[in-house]
Amino acid sequence: MESQQNDHLSKKWIHLRRILERPGPFCSPSFVASEQHLEFLMKTCKILVIGAGGLGCELLKDLAYLGFRDIHVIDMDTIDLSNLNRQFLFRRKDIGSSKAQCAAEFINKRVPGCVVTPHFCKIQDYDESFYRDFHIVVCGLDSVVARRWINGMILSLLVFDEEGSLDQSSLIPIIDGGTEGFRGNARVILPSITACIECNLDLYPPQVTYPLCTIATTPRLPEHCIEYVKIIQWEKENPFGVALDGDDPQHLSWVYERAQDRANHFRITGLTYRLVQGVLKNIIPAVASTNAVIASVCATEVFKIATSCYESLNNYMMFNDVDGIYTYHYESERKTDCLACSNVSRPVIIDDPNSMTLENLITYLCENAQFQMKNPGLTANINGKNKTLYMSAVPCIEERTRPNLTLSLVELGLVDGHEIMVADQTSPNTITIQLKFAIHDSEME
Ligand SMILES: [Zn+2]
Repeated sequence: MESQQNDHLSKKWIHLRRILERPGPFCSPSFVASEQHLEFLMKTCKILVIGAGGLGCELLKDLAYLGFRDIHVIDMDTIDLSNLNRQFLFRRKDIGSSKAQCAAEFINKRVPGCVVTPHFCKIQDYDESFYRDFHIVVCGLDSVVARRWINGMILSLLVFDEEGSLDQSSLIPIIDGGTEGFRGNARVILPSITACIECNLDLYPPQVTYPLCTIATTPRLPEHCIEYVKIIQWEKENPFGVALDGDDPQHLSWVYERAQDRANHFRITGLTYRLVQGVLKNIIPAVASTNAVIASVCATEVFKIATSCYESLNNYMMFNDVDGIYTYHYESERKTDCLACSNVSRPVIIDDPNSMTLENLITYLCENAQFQMKNPGLTANINGKNKTLYMSAVPCIEERTRPNLTLSLVELGLVDGHEIMVADQTSPNTITIQLKFAIHDSEME
């Protein structure tokens, strides 16, 4: 027992102890060298890793070797053959098993003393009580929607006193890594203090590439079905004896029909001919070395925050090794009217409320770069009553509210300055938008 108690004093950690138990010119000014830092890191600090894929495997390995011992990992995906070239915690025998479970098992066996707890589910399956328990959250995700959701969740955990000052103990830093081919980025988010995911939503162009593993085994979007036909079925069947041409209507129809079959099989809706045209573009392969670089930057930031030995990255770093190696970092600025991390409602300018329909408004929320919503549900207080304007997530409500789609905002009883509550899968929280009518007609008031 004695040796277990003083495990952090073991020779094995001598390199970490040199950093944490001695002052130095590069330390952050507030840092006081002490053996308590390593003790905290090893005995108390609880880390959540989101995603056990390319970045997740690297992150778990890095964090375990940095001395963290209470690590949780959450991932809803299963292992596919195509993962094995870079997701090095998995073997051929693991194909079809949970990524989170296999990764945890591997690390626990390989790094004695480290306990990784797997969660084979979606991030949305857990509520505040789960997320509140962690000191730091690290994301290795390939989805912008999931990033935005976790960002909203961590922001919702913040506690402010009556004067509006933040209770520091409610703040959970988010370290976010992302890679695409030979490009990657890492960022440190101190919710409500530095820029959040939503503050820089315009950094994420609408997602057009998907990991092969998702396409092959767990399609969730119509795009996944199209990619499947494009990458796998076309190769196999080669229907016209030539390479797939995204401009050839015959090719498009062939892909459309097969993608539709696959979508039906997985009960995925929303597949259209136009979407097929849009998706038949490039797919960017995952690159193991990019994942390794970005994960190591993220793990280092976790270490810095957990021990306060050095100033954190402030706050956005990018990496590119398409041609040579290039890195750069800058301070990404917080948006004062951010939908997620400020408490102001976002104004939406309506040119003509007599001709703009509810459907037009929903399309705007999906296509506008600042909102990029997926499937918004709208409610408003009209004449003192909370009324659902439209919601597609629940079939019976969708049917009841569908006639509203073609009504104009005026016909719905909405006035200038009206606040509308919007719920969307991109956030666990409802956000508020405020309608601003560009034309003022006294008859409308
Ligand atoms: Zn923000």
